Amino acid sequence: MRKPIVAGNWKMHNTVQESIALAKYIKDGIAGTEKTEIVLAPPFTALYSVSAVIKDTKISLASQNIFYEDKGAYTGEVAPGMIKDAGCTYAIIGHSERRKYFYERDEDVNLKVKKALATGLTPIVCVGETEEERVKDVTEFVVGVQVKKALFEINSLNNIVIAYEPVWAIGTGKVATPMEAEEVHRFIRGVLSEMYGSASTDIRILYGGSVTPENVGELIDMEDIDGALVGGASLKPDTFLGIIRKVSEKK
Ligand code: PEP
Repeated sequence: MRKPIVAGNWKMHNTVQESIALAKYIKDGIAGTEKTEIVLAPPFTALYSVSAVIKDTKISLASQNIFYEDKGAYTGEVAPGMIKDAGCTYAIIGHSERRKYFYERDEDVNLKVKKALATGLTPIVCVGETEEERVKDVTEFVVGVQVKKALFEINSLNNIVIAYEPVWAIGTGKVATPMEAEEVHRFIRGVLSEMYGSASTDIRILYGGSVTPENVGELIDMEDIDGALVGGASLKPDTFLGIIRKVSEKK
C-alpha cells in the first residue's frame, strides 16, 4: 500500500513571516487527512522557521534543491547536511525550472540524488517532457532517459519519490488528463521494474502540473498516481488544503 503524498512547492515566494503564517494555516487545517502525507517546500530562507511550526506534526519539510557536495568553496550553494540541519527530510531534485534556468543536467540530478540519499534525505526526483517533445511523440523516450540517468548507480528504490511533471503543464493551467498522466506513470513504473524488479511496485510516483482541488480527484483515482506535487495552488492555503482533503478522501 503506497501512502499518498501531497507536496507543496512554494518556489521563490514568501518571506519568513509569510511562510510561518502559511505553514500554521496548513497545520491547523489538516484534521481528518491522516491517510495523506504532507510535505512543504518553502524557500531556503524559511526552512528553519517552518520546521519549528510543523514540529511534532505529520507535516514534513523539503528543500527545493540541494548541492551535491558536503561543504566547500561553492558560493551560493546549500549542502544537503545544512538542509537536514534546518529540519528537512525531503529534497526536491531536478525540477524543470532548475533544468531550464540553471542548466541542470541529468548527471547533476544523479549526483544530487546520490548525495541526498547518503545524507538521509528522501529525494523527490522530477522528470517530464516539454510540449515540443510531447508533440513529437517522444515523451516515453525522454522520461525514460531522465529516470534512468537520475538513478544511475543507485541500487535501491528505498526512500526515493518520483514526480512526473510534464513541463507544459507546470504553471500553465493546462493539466494532463488523468489518462495522459496515468500512461506516463505506468511507463515509469515499468522502467523501474526493469531496473529494480518488484521493488518498483512500492515506489511513490507523484503527478505535478496545474493541480487544483477540482482536478486532483480524477488524477488520484488512477492506479499509478500516488499523490501530487503542487506549485501555484500550494500558495493558496484553502486551495492547498482542498487538494489534501480530496486526496485523503480518494486514496
Ligand atoms: C511545480 O512547480 O512543481 C508545479 C507543479 O507547479 P504548478 O502546480 O503551479 O503547475
